[in-house]
Amino acid sequence: MQTVRKHRLARKVQVTFVTAEPCCGHFGIGGLRGGQKMLELFFRMLKIKFVTNSRVSEVRSDGVQLDGGAFLPSNFSMIIPPFRGAAAVSASAGVGDEKGFVPVDGTYQHERYLNIYATGAAAAVAAPWQTPVAVGGPKTGFPAEMMAKITAHNIAAEIQGKPKKERRSFAEFPAVCVMDAGKNGVMILLDTMLPPRKHEVLIPGPQAHWAKLAFEKYF
Ligand SMILES: Cc1cc2nc3c(=O)[nH]c(=O)nc-3n(C[C@H](O)[C@H](O)[C@H](O)COP(=O)(O)OP(=O)(O)OC[C@H]3O[C@@H](n4cnc5c(N)ncnc54)[C@H](O)[C@@H]3O)c2cc1C
Repeated sequence: MQTVRKHRLARKVQVTFVTAEPCCGHFGIGGLRGGQKMLELFFRMLKIKFVTNSRVSEVRSDGVQLDGGAFLPSNFSMIIPPFRGAAAVSASAGVGDEKGFVPVDGTYQHERYLNIYATGAAAAVAAPWQTPVAVGGPKTGFPAEMMAKITAHNIAAEIQGKPKKERRSFAEFPAVCVMDAGKNGVMILLDTMLPPRKHEVLIPGPQAHWAKLAFEKYF
């Protein structure tokens, strides 16, 4: 009896995904070939409505107000605010930008203070495009690790008095991304994080979910 009631309740639930991104599958990296179609197909299969290019202006107890007038009635809202840097960076005059990220060059050295390096989530990443609603770049583990290695090499070179520095921008890193979505998911393999790219591979399927599980168990 309880199962039947739960089932009826589940059928009434409408999930709506609201994003600042200009289209589904933009991911803050300018989109991928076939990515938008794939994401929209997933949403349709899961009966999830989506609203792109939107800015939330107010969250109320009965729903979410969007800029431009639309109101989405809601019993439960999950809000993910824009990503910000560490408070310590914002509190240090001249070190960070207005969002608390550290402006660095391709060697991950501060653009003005040469004794400061920043990597990973702390480093400012400039997007080469402007979208109607501002969209940030993805700050994920793989580029964080690559930036950290480059930074470590450069700091060691500086200590040893070696002039040559390793240099690679966020845009040039390859992307290796496993996105888990319950029983399913997508693996993304790109030769460069930002376009223009030569290779873009999207592999949908349950193996993305299994890979994430294996990764979690490994750690
Ligand atoms: C829910 C979630 C899921 C994610 N899933 C994935 C994923 O599947 N794949 C992927 O690649 N990435 C994923 N990421 C992103 C990934 O975790 C980050 O990109 C990565 O951890 C960034 O590494 P980092 O070392 O730059 O920063 P962090 O891992 O955030 O490390 C920063 C460290 O600095 C410390 N710190 C902060 N302030 C101070 C201070 N004032 N003084 C001293 N220490 C301080 C913090 O405690 C923290 O230990 C996910 C992130 C989240 C939140």
